[in-house]
Amino acid sequence: MAETQVALPTLVHPVTPPRKVPKPKNGRERKARLDRILGELDKLFPAATCALRHENAWQLLVATILSAQCTDERVNKVTPELFRKYPTLEDFANAPQEELAGEIRSTGFFNNKAKSLIGAARKILADYKGQVPRTMDELLSVPGAARKTANVVLGTAYGIASGVVVDTHVQRIAQRLDLTKNTDPVKIEEDLMKILPEEKWILFSHQVIHFGRQICIARKPRCPSCPLDAVCYAKDKTLA
Ligand code: SF4
Repeated sequence: MAETQVALPTLVHPVTPPRKVPKPKNGRERKARLDRILGELDKLFPAATCALRHENAWQLLVATILSAQCTDERVNKVTPELFRKYPTLEDFANAPQEELAGEIRSTGFFNNKAKSLIGAARKILADYKGQVPRTMDELLSVPGAARKTANVVLGTAYGIASGVVVDTHVQRIAQRLDLTKNTDPVKIEEDLMKILPEEKWILFSHQVIHFGRQICIARKPRCPSCPLDAVCYAKDKTLA
């Protein structure tokens, strides 16, 4: 599915310097601030979803494995032809590894990814009757599927809230918004799972990924257009 592009406000505002943004002093203020963040994300991206094109859980698993160290846009260019050539799990399981690697070359790390895709198809056929499993533990037994991949597949393909997807955008923005003090993705996920309502786990990740691509950009966040300016005391806000 294509990424939701929001129309940013045309009138930019002077950015509030980080030191002038009051930090929450107690649990009630922290909760109010989090509600404000979630509310603004809902307004910006009410129906955010995964940008990786797919028609079923297996295709999403393939696309997510390919998206490691690669943009969703690039993956979306590769997968249509890939799924035409290998329409079933059996086709992937029997694919010649070198040939498959050549076909996914542009996504980077193609030898490892080809090995993972073939291994994943074989594992799912052998142990899960050809169905992508629906639990975190089972998915983690599939080659190429670490916790982030499993969360993407469970949340987007099955609507199962197993955790919070922590990619580079979620990691950066959770830190900028002081929703975590950690740098390790697993610990960041644990922090987010503690403070977010479970029914928000899936949507929150998608919203933050869109937010990170369009507004809270890594190198130069677009703070003058950001509706979270008033609650953001990130040191790297762009004041100009
Ligand atoms: S865009 Fe700027 S104001 Fe908005 S969350 Fe990111 S750093 Fe904070």
